[in-house]
Amino acid sequence: MTTPQNTSIFPRGDKLPNEYFTGNAFLHPLLARDKNNEFAAGSVTFEPGARTVWHTHPKGQVLMVTEGEGFYQEKGKPARALKKGDVVNIPENAAHWHGASAHSRFVHIAITNYKGGENVVWLQPVSEAEYQEVNKQ
Ligand code: MN
Repeated sequence: MTTPQNTSIFPRGDKLPNEYFTGNAFLHPLLARDKNNEFAAGSVTFEPGARTVWHTHPKGQVLMVTEGEGFYQEKGKPARALKKGDVVNIPENAAHWHGASAHSRFVHIAITNYKGGENVVWLQPVSEAEYQEVNKQ
């Protein structure tokens, strides 16, 4: 019998560093950049309340939500609530964050394009005030 804890598509993977992820977030790498694919793909699991810090991608990023409820927010814009099946096409160099809602686990596949050797630029953490504001909606 399948237990509710064992329904995820991909394994949870390894914990991501708190320098760039607030709370408990995990990465299961799916595909590394190679000679044909100028991107890396991975499944990212956020425990409730966990999120990225603000960051940008020099060639953009695509998120595909596979489980739970969370948010995507670009700087200066209202947050977008996300659920399983949602897709987000993130423009290049747009400051943003993504992560779980305060009360739900959240899992997405992230496809992150490279420009040269770089696919992400990390900025400052999402403050508790910024995060609480988004969770009110
Ligand atoms: Mn991102």
